[in-house]
Amino acid sequence: MRAAFLSDVHSNLEALDAVLEHAREQGAVAYVVLGDIVGYNADPDGVIARLMSLPNLTLLAGNHDLAVTGRFDVGIFNRIAADAISWTGEVLSPEARGVLEGLEPRAEATQGLLVHGSVVDPAIEYVVNTDVARRSFDAEDFALCFFGHTHVPTCFSANGGEVNGTILQDGVAQPLGEGARFMLNPGSVGQPRDGDPRASYMIYDDAERVVVVHRVTYDLERTQRKVLDAGLHPFLAERLASGR
Ligand code: ZN
Repeated sequence: MRAAFLSDVHSNLEALDAVLEHAREQGAVAYVVLGDIVGYNADPDGVIARLMSLPNLTLLAGNHDLAVTGRFDVGIFNRIAADAISWTGEVLSPEARGVLEGLEPRAEATQGLLVHGSVVDPAIEYVVNTDVARRSFDAEDFALCFFGHTHVPTCFSANGGEVNGTILQDGVAQPLGEGARFMLNPGSVGQPRDGDPRASYMIYDDAERVVVVHRVTYDLERTQRKVLDAGLHPFLAERLASGR
C-alpha cells in the first residue's frame, strides 16, 4: 500500500492541492499529516477542509496548531510567527478549530511511530542532526518513525551503534533496508526551507519498503498574494519564493 506523508502545510492551500494531485497520481490510498497544519500562510480553513476530505487520514498537531488552540505558549515563537498565529486564531472557523483541538503531536499508526518534532519531545524538538536523532532512536524501540518540524526532507538511519543522516532528493528512492531503523521527514508542503521553493512530500510503499520524496511546483504567486492581502508579514510571502 502506498501512503502519502505530508508535514508543515502551514495554511498553504495551493501547495497542498498540488501535492494531493501528485500523490493521487502516485497511487496514494492513505494520508498522514505530521502537524503544523496552520500558521504562516493565509488559508487555514481551506487547508483543514481539504485534509478532512481525504480517505484513510491520520492527522497530528504541530506546535503552531497547539498554539492556535491555546495548548502551547505563543511566547516561544518569533514575532512574525506569533502574529500569524494570532491572525489564524481570529479567522479560524469553529469547525476547523474543533479539528485542531482534537489533535496531538504524537500518534502510532500502522506505518510506524508518528511525531511532529521528535520522539523525545514531539511538540518542540528539531531533529536536525545525527546527535539529536540518536536521542530519539535511544528513547524508544521503534522500527520506523515519521517526523516533521524542520521543513527539510531527511532520512536518519540507525544500524547497530551507528546513526547516519541524509537529505532526501526529489524522486530518488530511499530503500528501508532490513535490520536498520529509520526516522523519515517528508519536508514541508507549505514552507520549504532547504532552498528549493517547490512543495515537498513523501510516498511510502510498505510492500517495497521504500520512500521517495517528491518536489511539486505550485502557484506560489497566488499564495503570496493571499498572504499580503490578509495583512500577514511580507517576509512570509518573500520566503516562499526563496525556499528559506
Ligand atoms: Zn512548521
